[in-house]
Amino acid sequence: MAESVAIKQLTHFINGKAVDGKSGRYGDVSNPSTGEIIAKVPLASVEEAREAIEAAKTAFPAWRDTAVAKRAEIVMRFRNLLTENMDRLIELICTESGKTKEDAKGELTRGLESVDLAIGAPHLLKGEYSVNVGGQINAYSAKYPLGVVAAISPFNFPIMVPLAQTSMAVAVGNAVILKASEKVPMTALFVSELWKEAGLPDGIWTVLNGDKVAVNELLENPAVHAISFVGSTPVAKYIYETGAKHGKRVTALGGGKNNMVVMPDADLEQVANAFIGAAYGAASQRCMAISTLMPVGEETADRIVAILKEKIDALKVGSYEEEGTDFGPVISNESKQSVIESIDQAEKQGAKVVCDGRSLDIVKNSNGFYIGPTLLDHITPEMDIFDNEVFGPARNIVRVQSLEQAIGLINDQELANGVTIFTNDGHAARKFTTEIDVGMVGVNVPIPIPVGYHNFAGFKGSRFGEGHMFGPDQARFYTKTKTVSERWLTPSEATTSTFAFPSNND
Ligand code: NAD
Repeated sequence: MAESVAIKQLTHFINGKAVDGKSGRYGDVSNPSTGEIIAKVPLASVEEAREAIEAAKTAFPAWRDTAVAKRAEIVMRFRNLLTENMDRLIELICTESGKTKEDAKGELTRGLESVDLAIGAPHLLKGEYSVNVGGQINAYSAKYPLGVVAAISPFNFPIMVPLAQTSMAVAVGNAVILKASEKVPMTALFVSELWKEAGLPDGIWTVLNGDKVAVNELLENPAVHAISFVGSTPVAKYIYETGAKHGKRVTALGGGKNNMVVMPDADLEQVANAFIGAAYGAASQRCMAISTLMPVGEETADRIVAILKEKIDALKVGSYEEEGTDFGPVISNESKQSVIESIDQAEKQGAKVVCDGRSLDIVKNSNGFYIGPTLLDHITPEMDIFDNEVFGPARNIVRVQSLEQAIGLINDQELANGVTIFTNDGHAARKFTTEIDVGMVGVNVPIPIPVGYHNFAGFKGSRFGEGHMFGPDQARFYTKTKTVSERWLTPSEATTSTFAFPSNND
């Protein structure tokens, strides 16, 4: 792998300022489009993680006690700074993740939806109040922030996922520690500067860079009250189990294997266009990317495969700096090799390779981590690639003979993040949305990712814990409900002791 000339030395962001790493451990940050190492990111030690947690803990009470409207105003200023700095953010996202500028802009725009919802935190924080519930007593339930909370994020959305995990957490009054992906830390560090400029008090926003050493301290430290994790399924399961064992509130979102069912009555030209964008966009590195097309009936399958082959062969793979690039590289050389191995293995197990992304010139000749779009037909449930998430542009065709068979196969899969059906038959769509056991469902929608004010999460192996990312559930996840019963007696009013359990209808 080529080394770049000027390698940036990155920092943490603790207590309102950039802080150098002290552990002596660093990770490489690459530009996936060129293969060059562009930065070194510090990997925090346990002591550094503790210092960051302590700073957040100290800052929390004043932020909790800040008026909700004042907090919302700071979030609003942060939102404006994100849009004012859009070009810089897009450049950072493209440089460290390899995605195209259009795609980076798309993720930023979706991330802004979470910030918009967080600006409305005062509305979501409203509680319940009852007067005279018994003997001059009034009762109310109110939402209070948890304290120090942590978000651990994946590489594939350097800004959208961190914004979705953290904006509401800040707005409802917590002190937030983001453990950004060590593969894409530069965007998160820049976001820290924007929070500071927006007027967020020091210590309320922390970026703790690191690997599992930092994560384990966040999971075990008693001062951290909630963990929001987004990443791969094995790590999500570990985070959930370890966090829960240490008494924390945890939501851990995992990987996806997302199917697109195509009924014989669908417009196949429309389906093909929808599939290609949803399947190969961002080099298929999206938890909601369509992994598998399930055409119903052999005739539907033969027709759509022919249309897809022509369109896929015309796709342009390349750097975000080149005009007309449809998608860029995967995140690392390791990831590239793992995707190629999955294709090799599927072929050995009997898959028919319709489009072969291993053979493109750019795949062989560039130091960037490129793989071309690959389409594998005649995938069956016995093959490893049927169930395993492949985080790169190798997509499947699973031929089914009925809608019932499609629903059965999908419901038997472990990952259950997103799914979609293309049809003009309302009955088929209704049966599908009712019977399918998947968290986010689309009807004639390529990627059924909910808008920021609806809840986002999968089922089964795609989510551990009950919370959601995006949506009003964020305000519930990051607060605890306290119920207060209060009575204000007239001074000197006569009272007696009672030893019976308090009853309100005497
Ligand atoms: P990952 O699981 O490798 O890493 C995610 C985070 O966990 C990173 O911050 C990483 O430092 C940390 N981590 C990794 N291994 C760890 C360990 N052993 N102990 C403690 N912490 C550890 O995921 P990734 O490769 O960065 O991201 C891609 C994955 O994320 C894919 O599986 C994708 O489907 C999933 N994802 C899911 C969603 C969703 O909403 N469900 C969204 C985006 C990405």
